[in-house]
Amino acid sequence: MEITYLPVGPIETNCYILCDETAKVCAVIDPGDEAERIASAVERTGCAPCAILLTHGHYDHTGAVAELTARWGGIPVYLSRRDTAVGGCDPRIFPPVPGTRDYDEGDTVSVGGLTVEILATPGHSRGSVTLRCGYALFCGDTLFAGSCGRTDLQGGSMEEMLASLRRLGKLPGNYQVLPGHMDLSDLDRERAWNPYLRQALRED
Ligand SMILES: [Zn+2]
Repeated sequence: MEITYLPVGPIETNCYILCDETAKVCAVIDPGDEAERIASAVERTGCAPCAILLTHGHYDHTGAVAELTARWGGIPVYLSRRDTAVGGCDPRIFPPVPGTRDYDEGDTVSVGGLTVEILATPGHSRGSVTLRCGYALFCGDTLFAGSCGRTDLQGGSMEEMLASLRRLGKLPGNYQVLPGHMDLSDLDRERAWNPYLRQALRED
């Protein structure tokens, strides 16, 4: 398992390329912008893209999806149905992403020999999910290094955010924390220093 990370777009969304370098396939997580740059980064990995996985439906995480699916011949795109315009979301912040497949709590997606598990972690948006694969947690805008995602947009809820943070904080063992914006971290460090995660764990 090999993970490449590149911040894209004006608000620097962290896009990740998750590779099974043995099977030579990869998934692209949250291609928010700069399709051309993402496609070049994927090419450099030598792995063929097999899926686009979205942590949630906000425009800054989905902006390059249409261009990449066109380029990659209709590769499947996964997004929780709770974050699609079909679910009645504001299209300015949840622009429609055509042809998405729904995924939800307990689902898995295979990337070569890797298994990506879907954990529903609402709070930032109704359909926010965290993707767990091996030692990595792709947290989207749920858990940030030292902080958490905003809860004041449509479908946001601080109560749900705290429950989601608690759930992540209680996962046994340590994980690499790969958030949707800003610095990367690990779960032990966040348990020790992140005031929101600490609050969530205290309130249990
Ligand atoms: Zn967001």
